[in-house]
Amino acid sequence: MTVGYIHSIETLGTRDGPGVRFVVFLQGCPLRCKYCHNPDTWQLKDGQKITVEQLIKKIIRSRPYFERSGGGVTVSGGEPTLQFAFTLELLKKCKEENIHTVLDTSGCTDPDKFRQLIPYLDLVLLDIKELNKERHLALTGVSNDKTLEVVKIMEKEKQPYWIRHVVVPGYTANKSNIASLGRFLKNKKHLAKVELLPYHKLGEYKWEELGLDYQLTDVAEPSTQLMQELNSILEQYNLNIA
Ligand code: SF4
Repeated sequence: MTVGYIHSIETLGTRDGPGVRFVVFLQGCPLRCKYCHNPDTWQLKDGQKITVEQLIKKIIRSRPYFERSGGGVTVSGGEPTLQFAFTLELLKKCKEENIHTVLDTSGCTDPDKFRQLIPYLDLVLLDIKELNKERHLALTGVSNDKTLEVVKIMEKEKQPYWIRHVVVPGYTANKSNIASLGRFLKNKKHLAKVELLPYHKLGEYKWEELGLDYQLTDVAEPSTQLMQELNSILEQYNLNIA
């Protein structure tokens, strides 16, 4: 009986994959993104203990709500690959039940472990926080080497994926950065969609509650016009934009 630590469950999610999603937010994350809106997921042991069997029972009960929309289960976090054994078993059980599966990941994971998840994944949502190595380190506290390795693995293994990228004014929200992302993603065969996500401040209060220093207090959320401009840059690279 594999035990995991979860932060929360969203039974009618609409943002993390196709259709209506049963989203499991796992606890624990090796990144420290400056804009994180869920810093309460960072510490593994702060989560609620649950077995895969208990979680699958909840998923089966919700099945009528997500299945008819073409949805399924999304395993998110935190960073869901951190609890590798739990995530692997959960995905296996979902596939035994013929449920559509999505992994929402930063890609900061052991490449060999990631390969083991692929047979049980219909889709991967990969966050590329920053393409530039130094700026990725400054924004998240970790290197992006593993994330970029995950892109290579998915291309080699023919794993369908979406790329998501948070647009943060003063950090990632500039035209040359988005053009670099476009060049990098152009001609990727198994990339189905690219989503630019506007930075938001909804999690700022959690940093305060946890006694953490939120460094983006003075950073404004990007305007609709800026998001349109950046999306139009990506479109020049023949990418399917969400
Ligand atoms: S990867 Fe996600 S959960 Fe982890 S720090 Fe970044 S935004 Fe937060």
